[in-house]
Amino acid sequence: MAYQVTFISGDGTGPEISEAVSRVLEATGVGFEWDWQSAGADVYEEEGNPLPERVIDSIKDRGLAVKGPITTPVGSGFRSINVALRKTLDLYACLRPCKAYEGVRTRFPETDIVIVRENHEDLYAGVEYERGDGRTEKLRQFIKETEGTELREDIGVTIKAISEYGTRRIVKAAFEYARAHGRSKVTAAHKANIMKYSDGLFLEVARQVAEEYADIEFEDRIIDNLCNQLVSRPEEYDVIVLPNLYGDIVSDLGAGLIGGLGMAPGANVGDDCAVFEAVHGSAPKYKGQNKVNPMALMLSGVMLLHHIEETEAAERMEGAIAEVIKEGDRVTYDMKPSRDDPSAVGTSDVADAVIAKMEERVAA
Ligand code: NAD
Repeated sequence: MAYQVTFISGDGTGPEISEAVSRVLEATGVGFEWDWQSAGADVYEEEGNPLPERVIDSIKDRGLAVKGPITTPVGSGFRSINVALRKTLDLYACLRPCKAYEGVRTRFPETDIVIVRENHEDLYAGVEYERGDGRTEKLRQFIKETEGTELREDIGVTIKAISEYGTRRIVKAAFEYARAHGRSKVTAAHKANIMKYSDGLFLEVARQVAEEYADIEFEDRIIDNLCNQLVSRPEEYDVIVLPNLYGDIVSDLGAGLIGGLGMAPGANVGDDCAVFEAVHGSAPKYKGQNKVNPMALMLSGVMLLHHIEETEAAERMEGAIAEVIKEGDRVTYDMKPSRDDPSAVGTSDVADAVIAKMEERVAA
C-alpha cells in the first residue's frame, strides 16, 4: 500500500529540488502517492491566500508532508507560510540533525548532533509592543507600578513567554527522539541564570522530564557556553533541546559545522502531522538554473522514511547519499573546493547519482 503524502513543491529553487527528491524517494521502492500542492507568493496572487485551506486539509488528511522552501516576500502583506503551517498544524517540535558526512568540507568531521527546537513559544510567540504605541505606554506604566522599574519611554518590547506545557512536550519529544534513534544524551540549553522565570522554568521542567528517562543521560548548558563548546568540540554533544530563538540560531550554527545549508535537513513534527523540509530557504537567485544542492531536502526525506519506520529504505537512501558525497564527483557547486569549479553538477544530476547508488546497493 502506498503512503499518502502531501508534497508542497515551494517556489524559487523549490520546484527543482522537490522534483529531484520525489524521484529519489520513489526509487527507494517504498510506495508513495504524492498529493502535489502549491503555496506561496504566486498562489497569493491567484487565490488571495498564500496558504489555502486545501493545502492544510491535504496535510491534515495524510498526516505527512514534504515541503520545498517558500519565499516570504518582504513587505508583501502576508506572514511567513512556514510559520503559519507550524502554528496551524501544531507542529511544535523542530528536529534538525547536523551530521558531517565523510567528504564534506568541515573542520568538525566528528559532528553528529540533533537540534530539537521548540517551535511556538519564547520570543517568537508574536507578542510585540511598538515604540510610541499607546499599548506600549500602558505596559510601561504597569511595569512601573508592579515592579518599581521605570523603562525608557522610547522602548519597543517583545514578550518572551515560555510555558510549562510547551516545555514539557518539547523536552519529551527530545527524549523520545533520543530513545527511538539510539542516542544516549540530551542537553538542555538555556540562560536560566539571567532569565529565571522563562528560561528558569524551561530548565526546571527539563530536569523533571529527564527523571522519566533514566536510560538517557541528561545535562544542561548555558546557551553562550554551549555555542563556545559547539565550535570547539561538537563531538561531545548528542541531542540538544532548546527554546525557540536559541534553537533557531544554534541550528544555523549546526549547519555551518557540517558543510553548509545545502546539507542541513529538518522536520516539523506535532502529535498528528509531520512536515519534512530543509533548513535553507528558496535561494531565489538560483531559480531555474538546476544548480542548488538537493541533499538537504533529500536528507529530510530520509527523516520521513525513519518517521514511517521504513528503516531499511532510510538506511539505503542515506548510505547512497553518503557515498555520492564521499566520492565528490557528482555534487553541486557548494560541495566543491571552489564555488566556480567547472566539474560541479546540477540538482537533477545529484538525484540521478543517488538513485544509481541505491540501485547498486540493491544489486549487491
Ligand atoms: P536561503 O537559504 O534561501 O539562501 C541563502 C544562500 O544560501 C543562497 O544564496 C545560497 O548561496 C545558499 N543556499 C541555500 N540553499 C542552498 C542549497 N540548497 N544549495 C546550495 N546553496 C544553498 O536564504 P535567504 O536568501 O535568506 O532566503 C530566501 C527566501 O527563503 C526568503 O524569502 C526567506 O524568507 C525564505 N526562507 C524559507 C524557508 C522555508 O521555506 N522553510 C527557510 C528559510 C528562508
